[in-house]
Amino acid sequence: MLLKDKFAVITGGAGLNGLGFATARMMAAQGARVAILDLERADPAAAARQLGETHLGIVADVTDRASCDRAAQTVLQRFGRIDILVNNAGITQPRKTLDISAADYDAVLDVSLRGTLYMSQAVLPAMREQRSGSICCVSSVSAQRGGGILGGPHYSAAKAGVLGLARAMAREYGVDGIRVNCVTPGLIATDINKGLIPDDRKKGILEQIPLNRIGEPDDVAGCLVFLASDLAKYCTGITLDVNGGMLIH
Ligand code: NAD
Repeated sequence: MLLKDKFAVITGGAGLNGLGFATARMMAAQGARVAILDLERADPAAAARQLGETHLGIVADVTDRASCDRAAQTVLQRFGRIDILVNNAGITQPRKTLDISAADYDAVLDVSLRGTLYMSQAVLPAMREQRSGSICCVSSVSAQRGGGILGGPHYSAAKAGVLGLARAMAREYGVDGIRVNCVTPGLIATDINKGLIPDDRKKGILEQIPLNRIGEPDDVAGCLVFLASDLAKYCTGITLDVNGGMLIH
């Protein structure tokens, strides 16, 4: 078991078809106790129940600093420590540059970028006290190649911001035994893109993916388990591509 006796927090983990829940399930199978954080409407308690009674579901909005701090405190009271944080919560919008409103910009950057900062701020003091921790941030191929398949330029900017934030935190906190890394998924079949890619576009998309399939949530979950685990104990500040070869660089 790669994560025996580890305690993990996963944001945006309540959607049963999403990357966050797949990661929660795989981390639990590897021995971790998991706290799933998500918005009230996503029902994180129900998602946690699917994993078993030792896991937690907590309502939290990552765009709200007080909400992040409250969630981290609840996890610390229940679990006693936090070894792993997966900053997974994110939203996307299909927009052209000239159509991005101020509200669009705020919505997309607040969840991915501000949320990654606020949740990291909420767990870092406890990790620093323990002198260990692994923070894994979910960025996107969209940050690296200037647009993925669906998200607008503000989504690319948010996810590129996550890469910069994670690398800077890795540099700052390595001395405290805390590792910070990113995954950059390509196109993964989840609710974020369900029904949004017309069949006639799929063929063209697959031609650009050497492994010739759209990714599954477990493809990303496996990489997050690796980064969170001691197998990756000399990795910090890295970006692990999980894109089937869509971007090779
Ligand atoms: P998803 O929509 O299933 O998951 C996103 C989750 O974030 C949802 O459960 C949602 O309720 C939650 N969330 C939204 N706003 C929140 C907030 N303010 N506070 C807390 N939780 C909030 O989609 P997914 O594909 O599983 O996405 C997970 C992550 O992976 C996102 O960051 C997404 O940008 C990223 N990503 C996805 C793909 C893909 O192709 N699916 C590719 C690259 C990156």
